[in-house]
Amino acid sequence: MAEVATRKCIGVDCEKDAGSLQCPTCLKMGTDSFFCSQDCFKRSWSEHKAIHKTKSNILSNLFPPKVVSEPDPATGLYNPFPTFQYTGSLRPVYPLSTRRPVPKTIPHPDYAKDGIPRSEQKYFGRNNIKILNKEEQEGMRKVCRLAREVLDIAAREAKPGVTTDYIDEVVHKACLERDSYPSPLNYMHFPKSVCTSVNETICHGIPDQRPLEDGDIINIDVTLYHNGFHGDINETYYVGDNAKANPDAVRVVETSRECLDKSIELVKPGMLFRDPGNVIEKHAKSRNCSVVKSYCGHGINQLFHTDPNIPHYGKNKAVGTAKPGMCFTIEPMINLGTHRDRTWPDDWTSTTADGALSAQFEHTLLVTEDGVEVLTARLPDSPGGPIPMPVATQN
Ligand SMILES: [Zn+2]
Ligand SMILES: [Zn+2]
Repeated sequence: MAEVATRKCIGVDCEKDAGSLQCPTCLKMGTDSFFCSQDCFKRSWSEHKAIHKTKSNILSNLFPPKVVSEPDPATGLYNPFPTFQYTGSLRPVYPLSTRRPVPKTIPHPDYAKDGIPRSEQKYFGRNNIKILNKEEQEGMRKVCRLAREVLDIAAREAKPGVTTDYIDEVVHKACLERDSYPSPLNYMHFPKSVCTSVNETICHGIPDQRPLEDGDIINIDVTLYHNGFHGDINETYYVGDNAKANPDAVRVVETSRECLDKSIELVKPGMLFRDPGNVIEKHAKSRNCSVVKSYCGHGINQLFHTDPNIPHYGKNKAVGTAKPGMCFTIEPMINLGTHRDRTWPDDWTSTTADGALSAQFEHTLLVTEDGVEVLTARLPDSPGGPIPMPVATQN
């Protein structure tokens, strides 16, 4: 067997052998550039970066130019959409980690391979809502209990300094330990195992390399696929004491929590699917908050997203009535400012159009003969939970 030749570090005036560290810009352009160390890379940066220009001038004749911001030489981190007009101060911090594998022994949903949920598309818009039999209801009970466990494990990690990618890792592992597939992974090509939506993010945030900051709020949205059923749950959490001391953050988070609780009180056989939106909008307005219209609650069972569609805003035109044995989510997204949303060029991250804070809570519900069972209900030791409005301190 031939020995692999040792590579030399391309750092300025460096004689050492190269390690596995590469310049991220060169990597993206498809060229090799190995350094011996982070220090040597930093020291050589001002000279090294000049070769990116020469290379990209040649390459741009062959490929359309793709604008990326310069990676931080010390960390290799970068903003993939530097020319996008962000609405707030949050930025994506790339590179994303590589796709986390799921062992073949764990049953996968149909979209796991190519990102396309074909079984959902077959049903979509037919408006015959599935009534689950006793056995299927037991399947939903089980997966929703597991989803709650995984959310609680993830929430305990949401502290200042922890990246959302680390939270993704925690969720991914906790799913596998429960013989479950993390439903978001490759759903319509979503790249990660959980949605993490920070500050002005309304929903569908992609876990990346940004560390959480004291004062952030973060929504963690977990869905598991276990034994043929999906269970879906999310909550918003305060990161550090600064968030709990911010009256605006507390107002939007607690209003969102209360909106979900109030709408669940309506759920029983005979409830119209257009009803929760009226209750949610009324309460949100009473707290001077707005309700997102672009994303809705959804039927959930053997399919991740199916009928019915449950809007969260008032005077909506949703059709249909709740019946015993139906499962669906309610998941109001509440904003401090405008209800309007703007999606990042990653085609997932939905943010508020004015950059103001947004918060969300979600449960998966089962309609019973005389009311509702909250399948993803909190456990006695669940982290998070309501907090009072901070009292203004006088100086
Ligand atoms: Zn969810
Ligand atoms: Zn959902």
